Amino acid sequence: MTSVFIISAPSGSGKSTLVNEIRKIVPGLDFSISYTTRAPRGSEQNGREYFFVTRPEFEDMIRRDEFLEHADVFGNYYGTARRFLREAQEHGHDLLLDIDVQGAEQMIHKVPDAVSIFILPPNREQLEWRLRTRGQDIPEVIDRRLVTASREIENYPKYSYILINDRLEESTDSLRAILLAERLQRTHAEPSGETADLMEKAERCRLCNVRDRLQPILASFRAGGR
Ligand code: ADP
Ligand code: 5GP
Repeated sequence: MTSVFIISAPSGSGKSTLVNEIRKIVPGLDFSISYTTRAPRGSEQNGREYFFVTRPEFEDMIRRDEFLEHADVFGNYYGTARRFLREAQEHGHDLLLDIDVQGAEQMIHKVPDAVSIFILPPNREQLEWRLRTRGQDIPEVIDRRLVTASREIENYPKYSYILINDRLEESTDSLRAILLAERLQRTHAEPSGETADLMEKAERCRLCNVRDRLQPILASFRAGGR
């Protein structure tokens, strides 16, 4: 059975970096390439990062009910095509979605056993530093992303797992553990030494087990927003 993994994060938290790492090390995982009406950035290619379409094309797809979910994010449409889930099911693969909070809510409603993961930076200062050193945005855009991030992170309670992306290697390992532990649970595999280790690592990222570590992160954003 296909598992759907939803990943959301405030911009600059390291979501793309983590998703790229995880796709290299977890087999049988399809990645849904979203449709968007925003213009391509930098070296982005149609059909690789996104399918870039016009607003009328996107609206036609909505009318034809081709999306599992879609949302307006920063004034542009973004959507997940149903065919990605269908294809993953045909291949017996799992499906990874990189979508925003609104899309995640719609997906959880449609696919109640989807696994949702929220990625957070270690604090506001680190997020700002990552956005500046990534060198992709002008200062005004970075400021806007920081304000948006302060709002977005308040959605963390809607997710099953919270991944605090401090050290990349550790975060990749934790994300792998979440995906594999969920797979194991769904296949009712016999527990072994390695599976117990994965389960324990995944368990540490469950919402109920990160609440204490979250408090200083939330506080850094609440203080920074003033
Ligand atoms: P997002 O996809 O969430 O917008 P990116 O993956 O583009 O974020 O990461 C933002 C910047 O932070 C990039 O320059 C990336 O190399 C860097 N980065 C990602 N994860 C880490 C980490 N754990 N520690 C330090 N820098 C990181
Ligand atoms: P960006 O334009 O920076 O690539 O993405 C902006 C936001 O849109 C990110 O939060 C990203 O997760 C979200 N996004 C990308 N694809 C989709 C999608 O198919 N559906 C929804 N709801 N959000 C998406």
